[in-house]
Amino acid sequence: MSTYKAPLDDLRFALYDVLGAEALFARLGQADVNRELVDAVLDEAARFSETVLAPLNKVGDEIGCTYDKATGEVTAPPGFKQAFDQFVEGGWTGLTNAPEHGGQGMPAVVGAVLTEMVDAANLAWGNFPMLSHGAVKALETYGEDWQKKVFLEPLVAGTWTGTMCLTEPHCGTDLGLLKTRAEPVSDDKYSITGTKIFITAGEHDLVPNIVHLVLAKLPDAPPGAKGISLFVVPKFKVGRDGAVGERNALRCGAIEHKMGIHGSATCVMNFDGAEGYLVGAPHKGLQAMFVMMNSARLGVGVQGLGLSERAYQNALRYARERLQSRSLSGPKLPEKPADPIIVHPDVRRMLLSQKALVEGGRLLSLHAYSQLDIAEKSQDAAERERADILAGFLTPISKACLTEWSIENTYNAVQCFGGHGYIAEHGIEQLARDARITTLYEGTTGIQSLDLIGRKTAATQGAGLKLFLAEVEAFAKQHEGDEALAEFIAPLRAKAAEWGKLTMDVLQRAASNPEELGAASTDYLFYSGYVVLAYWWARSVAAANVSGRPQAFKDAKRDTARFYFARLLPRTLAHKAAIESGAAPLMSMPADAFGAE
Ligand SMILES: Cc1cc2nc3c(=O)[nH]c(=O)nc-3n(C[C@H](O)[C@H](O)[C@H](O)COP(=O)(O)OP(=O)(O)OC[C@H]3O[C@@H](n4cnc5c(N)ncnc54)[C@H](O)[C@@H]3O)c2cc1C
Repeated sequence: MSTYKAPLDDLRFALYDVLGAEALFARLGQADVNRELVDAVLDEAARFSETVLAPLNKVGDEIGCTYDKATGEVTAPPGFKQAFDQFVEGGWTGLTNAPEHGGQGMPAVVGAVLTEMVDAANLAWGNFPMLSHGAVKALETYGEDWQKKVFLEPLVAGTWTGTMCLTEPHCGTDLGLLKTRAEPVSDDKYSITGTKIFITAGEHDLVPNIVHLVLAKLPDAPPGAKGISLFVVPKFKVGRDGAVGERNALRCGAIEHKMGIHGSATCVMNFDGAEGYLVGAPHKGLQAMFVMMNSARLGVGVQGLGLSERAYQNALRYARERLQSRSLSGPKLPEKPADPIIVHPDVRRMLLSQKALVEGGRLLSLHAYSQLDIAEKSQDAAERERADILAGFLTPISKACLTEWSIENTYNAVQCFGGHGYIAEHGIEQLARDARITTLYEGTTGIQSLDLIGRKTAATQGAGLKLFLAEVEAFAKQHEGDEALAEFIAPLRAKAAEWGKLTMDVLQRAASNPEELGAASTDYLFYSGYVVLAYWWARSVAAANVSGRPQAFKDAKRDTARFYFARLLPRTLAHKAAIESGAAPLMSMPADAFGAE
């Protein structure tokens, strides 16, 4: 079985040494949030993840969720409910939620660290509490007062859970196609009818009531995405006074059998004239949906990060223990029959790729979360606006890169284990299977790429990119004379300048041919991700050098940064060439000439 130990040392380095979280807490005006408190939270989160959640990861995979056709009920894997009860008792579900709804008001960066540990320990289990966050955000932002009063407290407390019901059989990415109908019944009640598929935690036995946030169309809806409205539809009806009534007309029709996350309930949900209440204005559901999705997208990026961390830990341990062949430069452990495989350059390539993408990726993610905190809580309006733009810009990069890298990282872990990674015994193949979903749900990598190059760059004249590049330049200037950093600062500056120019070129080409944006999008996203990570690796070396940490820690950060700049950052060259080749190589062949009928 694969094991998991929360990487508290690197998490603290990322939070305090690199990101300066203590100054951030002070800037948010949260006098009661300090390092001592956050450290205690991290220690307890680590204990819970390692001792309660991690041991359930295998049983969740092997037994999975079960569905009772007669009742439509879903039972989570053994031990999941007990763990969820403990999570609720510990107050974890509301860690980052507003105190007025019963939350603890902790910054989002702290919540992100908790999420990383939970998802690394047990991704499938982590999906049960995760979906409630989006539901809370949507209700907080767009809900009527009575809806906030009735639904927020139990969702934050974790005594109920939430869902996001968007997808239908014929519509995933293109939600404008959705067919679920909402018919007005009275002033404030609607009858919801339709089928939603792939609904995470749509039905389960962890809590007595489930609050579905459902996208549907009113009878007078304009066609397409402009005609979508959002409704709150509880499993058991809830009155305006909070009284829980009879069972609503909705039922789980089946659960999916899937490649990974077997412990997560992926449900077909049938709404058969279910009672629902409109959230926000009619036909404005898309806006509310983005509030749910933005928080969830960063969260899915963290899922990828957690799996990568766990895969790396296990691959590293195995590479130190497994004896095969001798080092090319002569035996390293002559007393043993062979050297441990960590001596081989190719195994080091796989391990260092994982280490560089995990520790650098952690900073990409936490930085994006810190911008959410500033956007929400800073006292300075201009600072709030800047942070909001930057968070929006970093969200698709974080979601798509951390999840795509989780596939690379978990596959590299399997490869380090050789055939022992492919068989089930060590639990490494489970990590690779579990990682696969993260590039798909909450918007595929292709859709994140379009979001980055389209909505977040072309539509804003590169507002987010400019803010990020200004940060890079400020850092480079600050360390101009620092000899220890010179080897990183010069290539970082060159890449930052190249990123700006590449962006201008693509946008110019797109002005005369809109296919150019789509053709460049995924390579542009990866190009961006690798430059962002170069910045975080340069900053990691700078932060390590001035920290009070042991020399070995500082050397390891520098050596990993050197590996990153030498072996991973050059991937930008291939992405740049692909971007510059334009749309023609992709679009010139007619669709019917692809072959195979
Ligand atoms: C385990 C699991 C859990 C899920 N949980 C939920 C949930 O809780 N709630 C929910 O509502 N949904 C959920 N989903 C659905 C998930 O969000 C969708 O599967 C996803 O959004 C993609 O939609 P689709 O599968 O219909 O693919 P499609 O939209 O059909 O896309 C197929 C391919 O075409 C590409 N594509 C589509 N349109 C474009 C475009 N305009 N430009 C470029 N490429 C494009 C996509 O990138 C993808 O590669 C879940 C799915 C799974 C498998």
